[in-house]
Amino acid sequence: ATPTALLVGTGRGAQLGILIKGPEVLESTRRVDTVVLDKTGTVTTGRMALLAVHTAEGVTEAEVLRLAGAVEHASEHPVARAIAEAAADRLGGLPPVDDFRSLPGRGVEGIVDGRTVTAGRGARPTDGARHLPPVLARAMAAAEAAGRTAVAVGWDGEARAVLEVADAVRPTSAEAVARLRALGLRPVLLTGDNPAAAGAVAAEVGIAPRDVVAGVLPEEKVDTVRRLQAEGRVVAMVGDGVNDAAALAQADLGLAMGTGTDAAIEAGDLTLVRGDLRSAADAIRLSRRTLGTIR
Ligand code: ADP
Ligand code: MG
Repeated sequence: ATPTALLVGTGRGAQLGILIKGPEVLESTRRVDTVVLDKTGTVTTGRMALLAVHTAEGVTEAEVLRLAGAVEHASEHPVARAIAEAAADRLGGLPPVDDFRSLPGRGVEGIVDGRTVTAGRGARPTDGARHLPPVLARAMAAAEAAGRTAVAVGWDGEARAVLEVADAVRPTSAEAVARLRALGLRPVLLTGDNPAAAGAVAAEVGIAPRDVVAGVLPEEKVDTVRRLQAEGRVVAMVGDGVNDAAALAQADLGLAMGTGTDAAIEAGDLTLVRGDLRSAADAIRLSRRTLGTIR
C-alpha cells in the first residue's frame, strides 16, 4: 500500500470514530479472520447494578454492604463500582479501608472495621470464601443460572454473603456481531465471568456456545489469543479493561473501547472512540477497502 492511500484510510477512520495509532496498523487488519470480544464493558455496557443480597445466618444486609462496599470502593472494576455505589447509597457513606489488595480477575481484599474482608468469585481459592454454606452456595448457583455475576463476600475467614450483580448488553452489540460475521470473521466471546453469564450474553448477540471461553483469569486471556494464533488464526481482540491489556497487545490487531481504561487504550492499535462495537466491523472493512483499492 502506498503511504498516501493508508493516510486516506486513517482520515476516514477518524470520521467513523476509529482512532488509528499509525497507518501501518491497517495492513495487519486486512488478514484478520477471528475477532475475540471481551464480555464486560465491551459487548455489555459495563455499568453493573447490584440486584440482590443473600446473607448467611446471623449476618445483616447492612453489615454486608458496609464491609463489602468499603473494600470494593477502592477497586475500579465494574462489579466493584456497582457494589460500592449501592452500599454508599443505602448507608449514606462508607468506612475507610486499609491494606487494600486487588487480585485481578478474582476479587478484592482489605481491612475494614478491623476485619479482613474479601469479595470475589467463589470458585477461586484466593477469595477467602471458598467454603460457602449451603444457603449461599444455592444462591450463587441460582444467580449464575440466571446469567448474573455472583460475588462471595467474607470476613474473618468465613463466607457471609453472596451479592448478585449484572449489566445489560449494549444495544448495538448484536448488530456488530452480525456485521463481523458478514465480513467472514469468526466472533469469540472471552470473559473472566462465569460460564452461565457468558452463555446468556452470547445467546443474546448471536455467538455460538462453542465460541464462548468463560471463567478465565486475566493471564489466561492472553493464552486464549495465543492458542488461536497457534491454530493459524489471525486474531483481532476487542477489550476495555486493565485485564484485557496483555491480550490486546498479543493480538494481531488490538481494538480498545474508547469508554475503557487507559491501560487498554495504550495496549491497543486502534481505539473505538464511541464505545460502539459496530466500529470494529467498520475498522476491518475500511482497511480491506483502503488496501484493496490501491493494489
Ligand atoms: P471480564 O473478563 O468479564 O472483564 P474480569 O476478568 O475482570 O471479568 O473478572 C472476572 C470475575 O472476577 C468477575 O466476573 C467477578 O466475578 C470477579 N471479580 C473481578 N474483580 C472483582 C471485584 N473487584 N469484586 C468482586 N469480584 C470481582
Ligand atoms: Mg471488560
